[in-house]
Amino acid sequence: MFFTDLMAHCTTRIECVFPDGKTSTGTGFFMTLCESGDRSVPVLVTNKHVVMGAQRGAFWLTLRKSGGTAPDIGNHHSFELPNFASHWHFHPSLDLAVMPINPLVEQSRSTGHEYFFAPLSTTLIATQADLADLPALMDIVLVGYPNGLWDKTNNQPLFRSGITATHPELEYNGKPEFLIDAACFNGSSGSPVFLAQIGRTMSRSKGVMIGPSVVKLLGVLYAGPMHMATGEIVAVPIGTRDIVVTAIPNNLGLVISAKELLDFEPILNYLATNQRRPGRNEACPCGSAKKYKDCHGALS
Ligand SMILES: [Zn+2]
Repeated sequence: MFFTDLMAHCTTRIECVFPDGKTSTGTGFFMTLCESGDRSVPVLVTNKHVVMGAQRGAFWLTLRKSGGTAPDIGNHHSFELPNFASHWHFHPSLDLAVMPINPLVEQSRSTGHEYFFAPLSTTLIATQADLADLPALMDIVLVGYPNGLWDKTNNQPLFRSGITATHPELEYNGKPEFLIDAACFNGSSGSPVFLAQIGRTMSRSKGVMIGPSVVKLLGVLYAGPMHMATGEIVAVPIGTRDIVVTAIPNNLGLVISAKELLDFEPILNYLATNQRRPGRNEACPCGSAKKYKDCHGALS
């Protein structure tokens, strides 16, 4: 498969039902974290705000062609999980969440189902050196389900393109994130954002090179002015009066830097070793010296 074809198989649409009956959709993508030798922990990644508080949730996986390695396009299963939020690990300060998927995949394998999905390796994460060599104004691609849209017959996401609006090496306003200029909508939350240089690369050290291709994971889309456009009202103090405004989408998106995903590795390693989450009052395995309940085990 061409590498851009694989990118169409790294995401899944996430559908949540909340206790008040409301539903929402977001984007999840598959990754392998804790890579060491031939060992790794496959996870689904999305935003905390997509899954937090969800009573039920579902995502979809395409089956593998029997006896082969190719996807059986059009043949997919939904995985529906009760107590959906409880399956996730939440980042203590960023809008990120991961769910180990091995138990689900193993369970399905025992019933004779093999799935095709393309988890992103941590080697795809843009390193500090990669970022330092990137010029400003780079082409990016995001993969996901804007407004919940998808090809449900073929279990396919939508690709959208854009450019980096701020430099991904720099922490935008002091946070580990940057801005992209792309059409970002609700449902795109959790979309992987890729640097996509196909057949032509640009770098500060080598300039423009025709021929090679580079794809790197730059980050995870989590917010943008589109959230305010769905009805959140912001009171803006002007002079001595407060006026109430509703923001209008301006096609900008906030993206959490991909390296922050590595923050989940101590928790996932702990889980793999101990086959359970840490106790609420135990020290958080991330090394923060906080209790688990106040760090990676925080429920809000
Ligand atoms: Zn922690």
